[in-house]
Amino acid sequence: MQAFAVLVAVTLTVVAAGLAVRTVVSMISLIRLGQPAVGRTDRPATRTATMLRETFGHSRMLQWTLVGAAHWFVFVGFGFLFLTLATAYGQVFSPSFALPLIGHWAPFEWLTEIIAWLMLVSIGVLIAVRQRNHPDRVGRRSRFSGSTMWQAYYVEWTIVGVGLCIIGLRALEHALQRAQGEDPSWVHFPLTWFVGAAFDELAIPTLETAIVLLALFKIVISMAWLITIALNPTMGVAWHRFSVFFNVWFKRNATGEVALGALLPMHSRGKPVDFEDPAEDDVFGVGVVENFTWKGLLDFSTCTECGRCQSQCPAWNTGKPLSPKLLIMSLRDHAAAKAPYLLAGGGLDAEGNERATAEQLAGVPESAIAEAARPLVGTLEQNGVIDPEVLWSCTTCGACVEQCPVDIEHVDHILDLRRFQVLIESSFPSEANSLLKNLESKQNPWGMQPAARTAWVEEVDFPVRVFGMDGEDTIPADVEYLFWVGCAGALDDRAKKTTKAFAELLHIAGVQFMVLGEGEACSGDPARRLGNEFVYAMLAQQNVETLNEVGARTIVATCPHCFNTLANEYPQLGGHYDVIHHTQLLARLVAEGRLLPVTPVDELVTYHDPCYLGRHNKIYTPPREVLAGVPQLRTQEMHRCKERGFCCGAGGARMWMEERIGKRINHDRVDEALALEPDVISTACPFCLVMLSDSVDQRKAAGEVAESVGVVDVSQLLLRSVRTPAKAP
Ligand code: SF4
Ligand code: SF4
Repeated sequence: MQAFAVLVAVTLTVVAAGLAVRTVVSMISLIRLGQPAVGRTDRPATRTATMLRETFGHSRMLQWTLVGAAHWFVFVGFGFLFLTLATAYGQVFSPSFALPLIGHWAPFEWLTEIIAWLMLVSIGVLIAVRQRNHPDRVGRRSRFSGSTMWQAYYVEWTIVGVGLCIIGLRALEHALQRAQGEDPSWVHFPLTWFVGAAFDELAIPTLETAIVLLALFKIVISMAWLITIALNPTMGVAWHRFSVFFNVWFKRNATGEVALGALLPMHSRGKPVDFEDPAEDDVFGVGVVENFTWKGLLDFSTCTECGRCQSQCPAWNTGKPLSPKLLIMSLRDHAAAKAPYLLAGGGLDAEGNERATAEQLAGVPESAIAEAARPLVGTLEQNGVIDPEVLWSCTTCGACVEQCPVDIEHVDHILDLRRFQVLIESSFPSEANSLLKNLESKQNPWGMQPAARTAWVEEVDFPVRVFGMDGEDTIPADVEYLFWVGCAGALDDRAKKTTKAFAELLHIAGVQFMVLGEGEACSGDPARRLGNEFVYAMLAQQNVETLNEVGARTIVATCPHCFNTLANEYPQLGGHYDVIHHTQLLARLVAEGRLLPVTPVDELVTYHDPCYLGRHNKIYTPPREVLAGVPQLRTQEMHRCKERGFCCGAGGARMWMEERIGKRINHDRVDEALALEPDVISTACPFCLVMLSDSVDQRKAAGEVAESVGVVDVSQLLLRSVRTPAKAP
């Protein structure tokens, strides 16, 4: 019996280890096929600290407290209780086996039992959470919708099985010691002695056989798990236990910030693309899965299918086909299915010819050849991996990146796919054509004449200094801030109200500011988020040259998209400025007493976090401080706020595209705001202002909302309080 147990344990272990090693080698080989990823190994000590904090500290998992805490015990159990597997191997040979030195050491025994029980309770919690959110119960709203459920169940019940085996073995050990005439102290069996009491009547041989069988069962469960995941290299729910350490260590920002804010410059084979003189074999974006960097391929392998990203995605939540989870899973499955072809040397050269010889491809399975023939982006009829509707539904809001517990960088991957579609395939929603044409010809999305940028200056009753009007060729030293007005702020009637209100507040506070007027061009954000890096580079270069020429130092912007581009992306092109958002400056002016909000504004306001101000740049407090400074103004947060704020639908150049599928994102957001019955919906972004206003106006036209409900920038609310009542409009 014991010999049989030993034979089974050893055979299973050898097979499992062999299969696991083979799979790990092929996974690493696949990841190494990716393009070079720049800047992933700087500051190794900081990276290690970040990795330890995010894995052992579960700092990102704990954004969802209950699930995070439960997962922590399972995570710790998986690592620590490995020692109990080692004990089980010994028990198959000798039922009385204990690990040398620590096996009968009370602290080790306490830890083993405490962690085992907590792991069992925790996996129970996670099972309950999965069942409560099961797609069959809550449908598309389930974050598990589309996840491979059998894999999750298998992992969950494996953990239950392992946990029960540990408790059972400890109880049997207790009973065996008693049967052998020892009187084991509860100190050595703090949480299992009472279970062991149930076996007190059993004879020694019976107990020894039970220990051998249960230890074997534990080994079988563990090795079956290893064999299963080795045979399923796309089983992220299991593989992330190993890959997460690497995925976090190699994340974009060594300090632990998520991959938001700046987009990565476009690289080809690890080098920035020179648009003025691109190399013949330069790759623009991602057209085939092996064009992703190795970090991208590592990302795909690490997805746990937890669906946190999906649950926060505005596109998914409004019925669009895009789910960041399903996108990552599709890319992962495609890469894995294509891997045998790629590893055999398959792939197309710059002319579109097959690189590999017939001999090289001779042993490649037909399924891998067929997978390689699929377009990476294509419709169902084209057998595409990613449907174009999926790709173009993204608002680049960053909710997915913010939520992902294993630091997958979805937005970077989506943008790389878009870049190829726009720059190489010229394939993008037709409505965006006029946006690009206008940006190229008039340097603004609406195609208005540059002179229109200063029209608002004529509409205010205080002086505004426009660069060049007094013959200056650099910004005068007394100018504290260059006010970057932005295209919307200068050209859109609703956003112009923000521009005027902010300028007036600066005037009231006695802040010396200047605007560039016709010297401003679009920051390039819409072109870049659309994937047109070429148009972005043209606009951004022009702006950087202008700003450097005029000696810009400190810039304030009302548009979070401009703010993000100037602060985070222009440094990639040699433009280094001190950039702040207008809500930051206003909060400071109020705090310094340079602006005195005295007139009461007796209204209930709910504030909408713009994605490019909040998630992308972590500016959540200043706009709220501005509102808090207004007497009698009451605020109420929407459920989805701050890090979990819900997009208005404008980002990612979506503002210039039709929204044909599902509910409009701006309606979804406004519905949430209106549920609070506010007098005012406030925000701090011209794009959000336009999207929210559009929705509220439609609701008003339908008679669903009182005419008095307004949508305004926080600066407009502050101005109402700072102005004297006599001056109030
Ligand atoms: S960036 Fe926003 S819209 Fe795009 S996939 Fe992520 S959550 Fe969805
Ligand atoms: S991408 Fe991240 S958040 Fe989304 S399902 Fe995968 S692991 Fe979860």
